Amino acid sequence: MPVDSLLRVAVGPRFAAPLLDYLAPAEGPVPQIGTRVSVPLGTGRRTGIVLEHLEGSEVPADRLRPVLKALDAEPLWDPATLEVLRWAARYYCHPSGQVLAYALPQQLRRGAGLPPAPVLWRASGKPANEAHGLVARAPRQRQLLDRLIEAGRDGLEERALAALMPGWRRIIRLLEGKGLAESFAPASPDPADMLREKPLALSAEQAAAVNAMPMGQGYACHLLDGVTASGKTEVYLHLVEQVLASGRQCLLLAPEIGLTPQLAERLQARFRAPAAVLHSGLSDGERLDAWANARAGRARLVVGTRSAVFVPCRELGLIVVDEEHDPSYKQQDGFRYQARDLAVMRASKAGIPIVLGSATPALESLLNVQRKRYARRRLTQKVTGARPPQARLVDLNRHPPEHGLSAPLVRAMSEQLESGSQVLLYLNRRGFAPVLMCPDCRQAEECRHCDARMVFYRRRGLLLCHHCGARRRPAPVCGKCGTPLQTIGRGTERLEEELQARFPDYPVARMDRDNVRGRRRLEHILGGIRERRYRILLGTQMLTKGHDFPSLGLVAVIDADQGLFSQEFRGPERLAQTLVQVAGRAGRREKPGLLVLQTRFPEHPLLRQLLKEGYPGFAATALELRRSSGWPPFAHLAVLRANAPEAASLDEFLNRAKTAIGADAAGSDVQLLGPAPALMERRRDRNHAQLLARSASRARLQSFLDRWIPAVRELKRPRRVSWSVDVDPAEIG
Ligand code: ADP
Ligand code: ZN
Repeated sequence: MPVDSLLRVAVGPRFAAPLLDYLAPAEGPVPQIGTRVSVPLGTGRRTGIVLEHLEGSEVPADRLRPVLKALDAEPLWDPATLEVLRWAARYYCHPSGQVLAYALPQQLRRGAGLPPAPVLWRASGKPANEAHGLVARAPRQRQLLDRLIEAGRDGLEERALAALMPGWRRIIRLLEGKGLAESFAPASPDPADMLREKPLALSAEQAAAVNAMPMGQGYACHLLDGVTASGKTEVYLHLVEQVLASGRQCLLLAPEIGLTPQLAERLQARFRAPAAVLHSGLSDGERLDAWANARAGRARLVVGTRSAVFVPCRELGLIVVDEEHDPSYKQQDGFRYQARDLAVMRASKAGIPIVLGSATPALESLLNVQRKRYARRRLTQKVTGARPPQARLVDLNRHPPEHGLSAPLVRAMSEQLESGSQVLLYLNRRGFAPVLMCPDCRQAEECRHCDARMVFYRRRGLLLCHHCGARRRPAPVCGKCGTPLQTIGRGTERLEEELQARFPDYPVARMDRDNVRGRRRLEHILGGIRERRYRILLGTQMLTKGHDFPSLGLVAVIDADQGLFSQEFRGPERLAQTLVQVAGRAGRREKPGLLVLQTRFPEHPLLRQLLKEGYPGFAATALELRRSSGWPPFAHLAVLRANAPEAASLDEFLNRAKTAIGADAAGSDVQLLGPAPALMERRRDRNHAQLLARSASRARLQSFLDRWIPAVRELKRPRRVSWSVDVDPAEIG
């Protein structure tokens, strides 16, 4: 049997194990790795993805069936991206068929063909009166012709024509036959003529950064470490300009769907280049088009959230990862990958530069700078010349808050509001109150499915569990002693009411996931803020990311202690990043802003150092702490998480998993810790626990996982236990 004529295929619709072996189709070339094939299964046929070419198969030759048909002439991905996908499957211990399927638009997973290049139609240019004479007795031809004449030389896409007139294709053929209409392929844009607006003149710092990042000279990873409003985006735009001019594509990643339109708009305002924007809000058809346009090179700019790191590009010249520290780059379920890390790998395999931008770089990235894997380019000044905000810690022990607001904060707010500025209050807690409890027996309302208190929503008259979504109506009085229940603490819903009562003349915009669902609503509120219809902005994390609020005079963190005592090893890093990002919203323009942090722990070293030395000082200390305590990035982790309805089978499974390849399989290079209960042990009516594998050497951990995870997959699993593995976890609680 000739080598390569045996294929290992992941078969849809799940593309999971078991992988199946097939013979190459009887006719035509052998399907390549990364192409789709139609294969027989039982009496039916399925779409599959070719994962490997085999030398031999365990399936007896007379039982091997040939592939019915090759669906793609060449791999769906460019070579670098295909390599990254295959590498990621191994690294993150996820079935490679599912990884490739994950990286495909829905329709392609189902076997649909790639959409062809768009075709346009235009009027052939005959004088209008002569043309009209030829369609005088055909009203539909006349109508279509007029539309084409209106559209001019740019013509109309077939899709637009289809929307215009049912049965358009027959009509346009008639027009074509009379020499009145012609089809043409869209011209690829001229790389020398991509600029739509004049680029801004760079500041000296920006220019130095741009010059230090040569385009078109192979792989290099640059960490663009620039304070908020230092003009990082403008630096990206200058790099993109060079890359477009050299005839190559650019891929830009943003951490979340809310920020992609903003980035895409800035790119499209600057460049005439066609763009593909990919995020979770697209319809299947839109996603397929964007994906295919990027792949074929029709889209010169590709912008998207984390999964866009897998979008193939014919001639990629640059990758930009904006807000590289953002936790959203880590996928938290299913295929648990880190998109920033994979972007770096993709750039290196493609031999192109990559820029990671942030005002608060991840400790991982800073260590990579120390180890000379990344080059750091700094922007230390706000472009507008604005100074960093003046910060003030307010000790809540000395200034007891009333309705959440201390007297110094109320004073600062009044001053700012009266002088015409906007103020922003950050409170990362949704709902009316986090606790509803009986003041006598101290019994809080708890979720019946989780180890968690239920959050009280007063307006809706509901108790809601933020972990499992359970909801119920609260009883007015304690079930045991009949005392009326009381709320403790405050979330954004309550603070909004309190603010409206205290500052009735200043409209409040509340931005959190309860109040802002969907992009429309977000745009609406952001518009209201820009037009200054709102004067007080109140919100959760949603407010802290990337948005530019020019007239903010004051930023206040209502509860800086939230997260100060987190049990997660990344807790301090996340808190510092959030505080710095929130603070960065203030003083983006001329006036220096004011930053107020309310805390009960004004002496806490993290807060003190952050105020005194800023993020770089904090990060240096935090990195040392991670080094001395042996946490990432100085150690490498993988968590095996499992859950089951009751504790016994869960323990049984994890203990079995721990010894799946022998009692001391991990050896001295890799520690295997646990089983330990999760921070929230009971969640969604199931018990959660985990094993933690840790090693100082990434390679050792990897080779351990290579042996261990397959063995765990083979284990006999007690009923109703489910488990997953998370390599480089964002959290280990
Ligand atoms: P960052 O991404 O670092 O937060 P931006 O790139 O969004 O900063 O820049 C902040 C603001 O400053 C934007 O409104 C941008 O248009 C403006 N800006 C950036 N660079 C310049 C420049 N060289 N000259 C004038 N304005 C600039
Ligand atoms: Zn719950």
